[in-house]
Amino acid sequence: MPTIENKIILPKSELPTTWYNVLPDLPDPLGPYMTPAGQPVSPADLEAIFPKALIEQEVSSLKVIKIPEPVLEALSIWRPTPLVRARRLEKALGVSSRIYYKDESVSPSGSHKSNTAMAQAYFNKEAGITRLTTETGAGQWGTALAIAARQFGIQARVYMVKVSLRQKPYRKIIMNLMGAEVLPSPSTETDAGRKALSANPDALGTLGLAISEAVEEAASRPDTNYVLGSVLNHVILHQTVIGQEVKKQLASIGEKPNYLIACHGGGSNFGGLVGPFVKDILSGQKISAIAVEPESCPTLTAGEFKYDAGDTAGFTPLMPMFSLGTDFQPPAIHAGGLRYHGAAPIVSALLKSQVIQAAAVSSEDCFKYAQTMAWSEYVIPAPESAHALAKTCLLAQELEKQGTPGCLVFTLSGHGLLDMTAYELQQNNHGNGKS
Ligand SMILES: *Cc1c(COP(=O)(O)O)cnc(C)c1O
Repeated sequence: MPTIENKIILPKSELPTTWYNVLPDLPDPLGPYMTPAGQPVSPADLEAIFPKALIEQEVSSLKVIKIPEPVLEALSIWRPTPLVRARRLEKALGVSSRIYYKDESVSPSGSHKSNTAMAQAYFNKEAGITRLTTETGAGQWGTALAIAARQFGIQARVYMVKVSLRQKPYRKIIMNLMGAEVLPSPSTETDAGRKALSANPDALGTLGLAISEAVEEAASRPDTNYVLGSVLNHVILHQTVIGQEVKKQLASIGEKPNYLIACHGGGSNFGGLVGPFVKDILSGQKISAIAVEPESCPTLTAGEFKYDAGDTAGFTPLMPMFSLGTDFQPPAIHAGGLRYHGAAPIVSALLKSQVIQAAAVSSEDCFKYAQTMAWSEYVIPAPESAHALAKTCLLAQELEKQGTPGCLVFTLSGHGLLDMTAYELQQNNHGNGKS
């Protein structure tokens, strides 16, 4: 029997028991969140929509934070996740670099979003909250939240960007199946939604507007809190299980990463992979961490670093981040999870102080390398993850030319099995690869 030793799988006992807090490692401290009137936001201001435990995590200076037992139990349903040496992909590309992917697609929602969904549902439940509202673009976050709400016995209401709901009707069915309520945004349930609809009855919605709706509802009801699937410090904190596991997995085979690569929508899978390595980078280890975004939504590579709101209506505090502006209308590219105008303050700070880098890739390259991955590894990446994959492949080929192969690790943030509309469109545009 041939042995297949491509998967590095940690035993359950190696599941990280603490989250890694990147905040104390930042070379420059994060500026405070601000009100539109220019006052620093106090933790108390956030209590209308977040539980105290998560607000404390948002500004914590502790280096590590213990993962509560019920959250560990939930994470252990699918974690630790495999780190896979993509040998057949390397061969298909003709490169001698070692390419690994961290497989976050094995979670119940099919993406890394379950890591924070479980934690946020738990802390809200502990705070006596019985309903959660959120927004979802592509539907992965809504799916992760619907499952987490089920795990901890809370109701979930998801405002789903109308255009995404039309493109991805199956996500709604999954969320409904899990017991969550799904509304198309703009909806008639909130002032923000009604305003958008009166301006344009055919409005197809944006993530920024869906956030406004979910926040408005949570702020107006004491039994209801708001949860966000990316951007915020506590979300990145919860995602650091990814990077901690990667560290252990690479160490277990005597490997050290030269490149850490993840796609960037709001920054959570990137921050979760790279966070635990920031100290190593600052202490001089030669690791390039690259956040990859679509050329058509170039927040990090072409945005401006400034204080900006996280939503369209301006309900959220102003955060110091790279932004394309709250009224930026991203084109309807199918990587729905990468269509956000802003970026995580943590990732923005790391980029500003040049601890990490950013790159943009074209949708043609994403599709091309997604197909290479499908043909070699038999894995269909989420369109979002295909950005990390494409950058990894392009880089590995460039390193080959320069004669400097290395160790490249990227996050497969999710699988693409519910993204067939996107793949179908790409096939129609670029040919379906039949040869
Ligand atoms: C949401 C999502 C992203 C983008 O969000 P980040 O916070 O930047 O990680 C990437 N990939 C998948 C599969 C997603 O669901």
